[in-house]
Amino acid sequence: MSASINPFEMAQFQFDKVADQLKLDPSVRDYLRWPMREFHFRIPVRMDDGSMKNFQGYRVQHNDSRGPCKGGLRFHPAETVDSVRALATWMTWKCAVVDIPLGGSKGGVIVDPSTLSNGEKERLVRGWVQQMWKNIGPRLDVPAPDVGTTPQMMGWMMDEYSKLAGEYTPGVITGKPVGGGGSLGRTEATGYGVIYTVREAMQHLGMDGKKSRAAIQGFGNVAQYSAIAFREMLGGEVVCVSYWDRDDRQSYTVSKEKDFDPVFLQSITDQYGSINKQKAKDAGYAIEDAGAWISKDVDVLIPAALEGQINIETVQSISSRVKIIAEGANGPTTPDADEVIKAKGIFMIPDFLCNSGGVTVSYFESVQNDMNYYWPKQEVLQKEDHILTSAFHAVLEMSLNEKVYMRDAAYMVAIARVVKAMQLRGWI
Ligand code: GLU
Repeated sequence: MSASINPFEMAQFQFDKVADQLKLDPSVRDYLRWPMREFHFRIPVRMDDGSMKNFQGYRVQHNDSRGPCKGGLRFHPAETVDSVRALATWMTWKCAVVDIPLGGSKGGVIVDPSTLSNGEKERLVRGWVQQMWKNIGPRLDVPAPDVGTTPQMMGWMMDEYSKLAGEYTPGVITGKPVGGGGSLGRTEATGYGVIYTVREAMQHLGMDGKKSRAAIQGFGNVAQYSAIAFREMLGGEVVCVSYWDRDDRQSYTVSKEKDFDPVFLQSITDQYGSINKQKAKDAGYAIEDAGAWISKDVDVLIPAALEGQINIETVQSISSRVKIIAEGANGPTTPDADEVIKAKGIFMIPDFLCNSGGVTVSYFESVQNDMNYYWPKQEVLQKEDHILTSAFHAVLEMSLNEKVYMRDAAYMVAIARVVKAMQLRGWI
């Protein structure tokens, strides 16, 4: 996370711009610029050495006009209340743009999870639920995984909530492990969804997937499955990913011009997305500096790490060959960089559309939990594809009709749906 960029200011800036264009009523606008509710709390955790340590936790509920709040829980050492506010706000637009009946929220804990043992992690997530359980629930607010959190943690959190509530409540949280109330396809959902939207963009632009190359930033859950799907679904070539090295405590780009194999790289990556550098080198991969991914001679750039990565300093390095930016991460592009991207004529697939596959399959997970009846993987992925493809075309149509940037078009579609729900409920 870049210290100079406040993600919540970014989220408000993006919203304000479209609110101006839509001439949104000032009171509605004021309501939507801010989260409706926030929780800030300390979580005391017994560490393995017997000492007690306090962690700072957050949950921000931005809007629930369209349904229960929905959004991930992120563990990151640089988490701030403003990053959680931004991410919660983007969740509202994300659920609205894909038209699933959910609102937006996000949680965070200031922690580097790679410094915790499994037992410490379990006690920390159970502690988070102990603080929040009266204010989350299947009809209230449903957390999920994000950066630094895993399906196993979701399983522990579901268990803690169920104990406190006195009944088995799988729908309180999504992204649970398969066999523990999780949905098939949830692990792959975000990355595959990124590529469903890239596929549609390529068709719109008349590009051939088989002749295309992609550079990816990150190698966590979203980046891994984006890389795999770019090759397997589109037949394209991935030339690099980037990752945060746990031993060196810094990031690198891992690249290979031919026969880049994300499945192999996944097999030498730990649960925090840290690749075994030596094994990668032995297999012929080059280790370059962290920023190398952005200047690669490719057709598609997929930032799938953290916010603020394509900014006014880095945007100038983007190759003139790049035709599509597919935002796998939340908030990877700053508003000033957006202006440069627009001027370069690059087709933008904005974050809350591009990475909405995760929450879409989370929605399917909660529906399956409610029915206590589970669907085959193929059915989950087909339904996801259908929802994302429809959402992509609704946004594209708005962009073409109104002659606006894809990000602004996505905001227009999403804001209209949220405002309509607020109207129907008599809030405005
Ligand atoms: N954390 C993911 C996101 O940012 C998934 C949220 C969810 O599944 O609720 O979209």
